[in-house]
Amino acid sequence: MYDLIIKNATTIDNQPISVAVTNGKIEKVAQEIHDEAREIFDANGLFLSAGWIDAHVHCFEKMDLYYDYPDKVGVENGVTTIVDAGSTGENNIRDFYEIAKNAKTNVYALLNISKNGIVTQDELSDLSRVNETKNIERINELPEFIIGIKARMSKSVIGENGVKPLVMAKELQKKVNLPLMVHIGTAPVALDELFTYLEKGDIVTHCFNGKDNGILDTNGKIKEFAKTAYHNGVHFDIGHGTDSFNFEVALRAKEEDILADTISTDIYSRNREYGPVYNMATTMEKLMFVGYSLEEVVTRVTKAPAKALGFTTKGEVKEGFDADFTLFEVANEAKELRDSNGATKEVNQKIIPKTAIIAGKVYNI
Ligand SMILES: [Zn+2]
Repeated sequence: MYDLIIKNATTIDNQPISVAVTNGKIEKVAQEIHDEAREIFDANGLFLSAGWIDAHVHCFEKMDLYYDYPDKVGVENGVTTIVDAGSTGENNIRDFYEIAKNAKTNVYALLNISKNGIVTQDELSDLSRVNETKNIERINELPEFIIGIKARMSKSVIGENGVKPLVMAKELQKKVNLPLMVHIGTAPVALDELFTYLEKGDIVTHCFNGKDNGILDTNGKIKEFAKTAYHNGVHFDIGHGTDSFNFEVALRAKEEDILADTISTDIYSRNREYGPVYNMATTMEKLMFVGYSLEEVVTRVTKAPAKALGFTTKGEVKEGFDADFTLFEVANEAKELRDSNGATKEVNQKIIPKTAIIAGKVYNI
């Protein structure tokens, strides 16, 4: 007998779907399943996708600048897997892990190359805080938790150090063979110089920020080097955050067929409570306003982040994969959306997560 059967759900391409789960894994996927199970979840009227993955959050409650609680940004928003993007470094990531492992939400981390993570805003202004030996030690100690590395490369973070922190991050990446996420923002480093260090698979977060040092030139076109990098496989991630998502940049990029590869929130307590982020669904709605289809936004919070971050059993509704699902409605309701620069847009469609299922456990929202 199965542990759980989810019945009568609808896929995003409007097909009926039922899923049977045992021991936290997907055992069977079909249009209809009539077998026995300990628990039946009737998903009539709901869309079912693989559990949403947020590739950029801040969820270590003991930090002062950017902090939150895993389940507040995760399961309560219909997000089954969250990746903390560099809140902590080799000196404090073990504390974070001890707390994070008790969350209902699946929590993973990108290791900040600076030892204490974002304890202060300028964690890479003093490079004595980057200790490669200890970074490698920690990565080897917590392979089930640390899935990549993070370097924040903008003026307020790096001080006078120019590209040096990025060079150090790339050296570490070569040794540990993990994904690297690079935060972009105000110069220095100038974005064209920064991009010369990036390779296929490297993740640029805050890709559609509205800052001068962003991907949009003064004529409203996407800068040539950014386009080339994108087409060569540098991964563009939204990382909305308080300051880093601009409708105009996202719209102009869409006009040139540059769609973000993944949709992430860069959520933490303040931008969750007071906006402009609020939650993952709102961030997805913003990209739908930009012109992405429902399928395109859902892929960008499931299969795409799983692939970019090396989750080999997440992101798809497939036999043998983890039994993580998000069940949601798309309702025709008016809503105002606001970007990081205060621009507002009226939309008539809302994405409303109703239930998150994590390793076969049902959490109604
Ligand atoms: Zn962030």
